[in-house]
Amino acid sequence: MTGGGDGNGENAIEVRGLHKAFGALEVLRGIDFSVARGEVVCVIGPSGSGKSTLLRCVNLLEEPTAGRITVAGTEVTDPEVDIDRVRRRIGMVFQSFNLFPHLTALENLTIAQRRVLRRDRPTAARIARDQLARVGLGDKEAAYPAQLSGGQQQRVAIARALAMDPELMLFDEPTSALDPELVGDVLAVMRALARDGMTMLVVTHEMGFAREVADRVVFMDGGLVVEEGTPGQVVGAPRHERTRAFLSRVL
Ligand code: ADP
Ligand code: MG
Repeated sequence: MTGGGDGNGENAIEVRGLHKAFGALEVLRGIDFSVARGEVVCVIGPSGSGKSTLLRCVNLLEEPTAGRITVAGTEVTDPEVDIDRVRRRIGMVFQSFNLFPHLTALENLTIAQRRVLRRDRPTAARIARDQLARVGLGDKEAAYPAQLSGGQQQRVAIARALAMDPELMLFDEPTSALDPELVGDVLAVMRALARDGMTMLVVTHEMGFAREVADRVVFMDGGLVVEEGTPGQVVGAPRHERTRAFLSRVL
């Protein structure tokens, strides 16, 4: 997809000096990091360290207190920016799947395509079927969310995001709400997406996934990036005590 201000070779996400406070609570205390196009970056860190807030700042679900964020060449922190236009280029998948319960899997994928991208019904349906097949749910287009397992619902949510042709995908603990036996199918879909070259920023506690799929791992604690590097560096040979302490709890 091409869009205004979409430069070539730039980072997909660039975050500089990001601060976010909720009243007196400073949740992000000066975050700098970037995600290159096609890169998969996993964000790890203890509960409350600011991971979700960081993701929510990237798509401006939260307004930063200070700092600059650029997504696909557009500065989203520019007060003049058309944030709906930028958000359209970002796929988001959360812990809770947030499917429309009264719509089938297919309809869950076509509604935003039709309303936001103004695709006609046959085009939206064709793209929806392609994306459902891509996540292994080609035979579930007529199913309602309640008829699907949690893992299947999350895969529908991923397919729904993909149907919008995002330039990058944000995942916030996409497998945390799932029964253990359903996690693998969702991670497999994410792994395939990474192989296809999608730019991905993934908050996860799945260290196996981070090790295997991430180009880079960012460890956050207390609203700061404590260390970042390859999975081998950060997960395999952490330099900081706080990283080691966290890993010893989750591994
Ligand atoms: P993580 O995702 O790493 O667990 P969060 O980004 O969700 O951390 O939260 C970081 C801190 O910010 C927590 O202390 C949380 O309670 C606080 N927080 C998050 N969102 C809000 C909000 N909307 N209002 C007030 N405090 C918030
Ligand atoms: Mg969180």
